[in-house]
Amino acid sequence: MYVVYDAILDEQIRSHRLAFTCEQCAHFCEDRRACAVMFPTDAHTDEVARQLQDGDRVFFCKMFEAR
Ligand code: SF4
Repeated sequence: MYVVYDAILDEQIRSHRLAFTCEQCAHFCEDRRACAVMFPTDAHTDEVARQLQDGDRVFFCKMFEAR
């Protein structure tokens, strides 16, 4: 699932401290920098989240589980 990144979403992410990146997920293996359930991480990393620009798609992983 994805939503479009904009100023409103940015404010919601910050104000609700929304966790959604792989590094914040219980399934993320720090040592391998990979997903334990073998999902592709390319679209969900902290690095991707830091580089979001207005109008970009933000992909949320359906298997995300907070640590
Ligand atoms: S389950 Fe999804 S959010 Fe969690 S580490 Fe795997 S790809 Fe990332």
